[in-house]
Amino acid sequence: MWAKNTPSRKARQRGRRVTNEGPFPPRSDLRYAAGVFDLLKTDATSKARLGRLTTSRGVIDTPVFMPVGTQASVKALDPRELREMGTQILLGNTYHLSIRPGMEIIQAGGGLHSFMGWDAPILTDSGGFQVFSLAKIRKVRAHGVEFRSHLDGSPLFLGPKESMAIQRQLGSDIAMVFDECPPHDAPAKEQNLAVERTIRWARECREQPRAEGQFVFGIVQGGADPALREHCAKEIVGMDFDGHAIGGVSVGEPEPEMMKAVEFTEPFLPANKPRYAMGLGTPAQLVELVARGVDMFDCVLPTRVARNGTAFTNRGTFAIKGGACKAEFRPIEEGCTCFACRQFTRAYIRHLLNVNEILGLRLVSIHNSHFYLHVMAEIRRHLAAGTFEEFRRGFIANYVPTSRVLASRMVGAE
Ligand SMILES: [Zn+2]
Repeated sequence: MWAKNTPSRKARQRGRRVTNEGPFPPRSDLRYAAGVFDLLKTDATSKARLGRLTTSRGVIDTPVFMPVGTQASVKALDPRELREMGTQILLGNTYHLSIRPGMEIIQAGGGLHSFMGWDAPILTDSGGFQVFSLAKIRKVRAHGVEFRSHLDGSPLFLGPKESMAIQRQLGSDIAMVFDECPPHDAPAKEQNLAVERTIRWARECREQPRAEGQFVFGIVQGGADPALREHCAKEIVGMDFDGHAIGGVSVGEPEPEMMKAVEFTEPFLPANKPRYAMGLGTPAQLVELVARGVDMFDCVLPTRVARNGTAFTNRGTFAIKGGACKAEFRPIEEGCTCFACRQFTRAYIRHLLNVNEILGLRLVSIHNSHFYLHVMAEIRRHLAAGTFEEFRRGFIANYVPTSRVLASRMVGAE
């Protein structure tokens, strides 16, 4: 039973049994030591890197895309589908999960992996981004933030200590430090304050106990100010985290500013640890960010736009609902090996969307998530073969970005 004080070996075993058929070996079969990032190759023509991050729940090949499961679910997709499309690591969220269903339930369920039936790696966001973007803040204190729940207005407090405790209880494989992420157009004074708090809070996070085998990544803030980025990066890197994230991107900034934030930060990040650009981006942006030395990505776009009936392809996005697809008896994308494209036509999926059948949303979500994972697999293949530059040029030339897709990245958290 799910008694709170039985740490649910049964639950863990159950989770394991459900997911053992995937590409990830059960924990007992792992022979490698946890905590290793191997930089396998650096591209000759760009800063792109081929790497491998070894966690206690499995190996992550980088560059990697991490589907977002904010509420312990990647919207509309189940773990079997995620595994089949090659997902190596998922995201979960401290803020949302601690509010609903609450830590008592997740702990009684044997931790996040067991609770959601996913035994491969999970990265948890610290909740900092949500506290500053969703909640009604009452007061920013020295050791965290007093705020009211965005759901029912109840008073809550989240800081480095609380965030790390929740992430420890969730049992994620990678925990993120609690940081302050100001909007991109925040005045310089606010950006400075946010960086100082982020540094101080990172130090506090560093001192907290972790779950067994849990990595902790530091986050670099600093907006679009090169000096502030450098200062923050140097301080964070000095704390010897297991990896580094570039935060303060995907906060409403135009693309050139986002690229600059990454370019201002990357030179100060050590090569022997993974780099993660938080909350980005479109497929074309991912290719460009890989070329700038980023290894890890997460983004809500593939599932969010799927729910509007928008599909990603090598040529950009298109609306399946549109009349053009009415009698198109071909897949969303020719040559795509996802389940939706192997099995169904645009005309059928358009029909499902137009009559509000849930299957329509699920099929577009499957295709879009598969597309993102496939782009990353192609990037890794070309990096290994030494042909990344040709791939990059071809991909960018083919891919037509749409402003609508870029805009939908900005709308709150999924
Ligand atoms: Zn497909």
